[in-house]
Amino acid sequence: MDIIVQKFGGSSVANPELITKAAKKAIKAKEDGYGVVVVVSAMGKTTDNLLELTSQISSSPPPREMDMLLATGEQVTISLYAIAVHASGHEAISFTGPQVNIVTDNRHGRAKIKSICKERIFEELQKGKIVVVAGFQGITENNDITTLGRGGSDTTAVALAVSLDAKECDIYTDVDGVYTADPRIVHNARKLKTISYDEMLELASVGAKVLHSRAVEFAKKFDMPLHVRSSFLDTTGTYVTKEEKSMEKVLVSGIACEKNEAKVSILEVPDRPGIAAALFQNLASKQIVVDMIIKNVSEGGRNDISFTVVDEDLEAALNIAKEFQGKYDAKNVIWDKSVAKISVVGVGMKSHSGVAAMMFQALANKGINIDMISTSEIKISCIIPLSDADKAVKSIHETFHLADNIEFMGDIEKNS
Ligand code: ASP
Ligand code: MG
Repeated sequence: MDIIVQKFGGSSVANPELITKAAKKAIKAKEDGYGVVVVVSAMGKTTDNLLELTSQISSSPPPREMDMLLATGEQVTISLYAIAVHASGHEAISFTGPQVNIVTDNRHGRAKIKSICKERIFEELQKGKIVVVAGFQGITENNDITTLGRGGSDTTAVALAVSLDAKECDIYTDVDGVYTADPRIVHNARKLKTISYDEMLELASVGAKVLHSRAVEFAKKFDMPLHVRSSFLDTTGTYVTKEEKSMEKVLVSGIACEKNEAKVSILEVPDRPGIAAALFQNLASKQIVVDMIIKNVSEGGRNDISFTVVDEDLEAALNIAKEFQGKYDAKNVIWDKSVAKISVVGVGMKSHSGVAAMMFQALANKGINIDMISTSEIKISCIIPLSDADKAVKSIHETFHLADNIEFMGDIEKNS
């Protein structure tokens, strides 16, 4: 019996009607002959609401108790989902994470899965039942409940799919796939048929948050195909799969835009070994994730260091930057909250040159100034003014002909 794992996100199980609808997807797969394992998130905004409740009591709740609380959200959905399956005349059984021994480490709020006991799940599948498992939660070796971090149900689904050796893992969500750009910004954005794990990871890290990054990493490691699709429509979505030769023919697969970005610059910092290390160690010790970094050419033994962080970390980053300024006698600290990061992603970049030049030209054509640039093997990112963000995405989308269903190469050279 082939097994299929179906994961339903919060918006796909937000109310009883939607839960009933989602249950029909599992029943359909069951009738098609699959062993069906369903993973669900908490209903709608339940997790946010639980966090909000907590904040009315304490600003520093014990992490163990937070996990105890947050894990309740998914437990509501699994039982309602199983009840919905029964109501349609089929059999289902629900399990919490601990009940199927999803054992994690003990880092509350960001636990990692160590092992899963699949016997019980197999047993129930053999009996012809649809097995419904709570996403996002696990249990430590000491029997404490843990959660995997926001959006972690995706990771539960992929981990189960891998451990059960499923044929694929379907991620049902409120979008019908992964697009070349955000369709709310670019009206002719195109749904991708396939995208590689690495491209998906880069897109997730730069603002296209369809999937939990750790879920994609896991899927990549074990080569588990993910199918991102709509729970409201009956269409094929986007397959996230291992990289194939043909994928390299396309220069750019997608454009992402992260508007939640802020830039900090420390001016005229003494230029000597160990200075950058001191600054970034301080930021890291406060759990601030630094994204882009630029250190410019030294003049008179001093230079400027700029970096970007997410908006929420700006205040904490500024405190550290100012302390650093005082300690090392830098001239000034300036910042800008109104910046956005635009990124183009594509495995085709590995074997073609000129992609960056095309992207910069697309921005120049619209009079958009580039503030910072960073690149990886399959991604080019630029920091630009926030007010230009949508315009930039549209212009780049057009330049790379992403709306057309053809392999666009422009004047690009193939590197052999
Ligand atoms: N309910 C959790 C959250 O809202 C986990 C998930 O939905 O994936 O983050
Ligand atoms: Mg999600």
